[in-house]
Amino acid sequence: MPKYEEEDYLWLSGIQHYEFCPRQWALIHIENLWNENYLTASGRLFHKKVHDKTQYEKRGNIIIVRALKISSANLGLSGECDVVEFHKDKNGIKLKNFNEKYIPYPIEFKRGNGHAILSDEMQLCAQAMCLEEMLCCDIPKGALFYGEPKRRKVIEFSQELRNKVANTVFEMHKLFKKLYTPKPIYKNHCRACSMQDFCLPKISKQKSVKEYIKEVLLNEEIT
Ligand code: SF4
Repeated sequence: MPKYEEEDYLWLSGIQHYEFCPRQWALIHIENLWNENYLTASGRLFHKKVHDKTQYEKRGNIIIVRALKISSANLGLSGECDVVEFHKDKNGIKLKNFNEKYIPYPIEFKRGNGHAILSDEMQLCAQAMCLEEMLCCDIPKGALFYGEPKRRKVIEFSQELRNKVANTVFEMHKLFKKLYTPKPIYKNHCRACSMQDFCLPKISKQKSVKEYIKEVLLNEEIT
């Protein structure tokens, strides 16, 4: 029995926003505000290059599929994998139009210096959990590919990481259902946040962003 209906699915990519800051996630995914800084712009262009390539190719014992759409009724998520490699393995699954069996191996492309952060690992693990549900298989690991050192970091999908993904996504659904945007908590990471112009973390502790903007517009009309 699926846990979520399709209309309730959230964007899988929101996991990294939520892990960075639940308020940032809510501003983007509930209030539909978006702001782009250098980090998000270069990350977006980096991903565009990945997704612009042809959809699939076979290299030896590996089939490479790009921009694969994924979803999970159990998690209530949908999204897209940058790349999924299918590695030939007798314990894997049969794929349409291929005789051998394969195990999926998701790869997520990231800007950065190769130090995996938890939000990247969670996003990749969520992709694996979607693929497992869609293809009825087990996926033990995948990889993060970092653009600056051009290196892969293998990520094992431990039970602990899977639980962290499931609990985080559950919290995201709870907030989304209530359309609730958490109040800001000013921390060092706010300086690198693409949403700080909307968030106003130092002054909007007591007000929602919508309330604040309404108040500013009202004041401008009066003066
Ligand atoms: S500015 Fe700080 S509190 Fe506001 S959304 Fe960004 S990280 Fe969160």
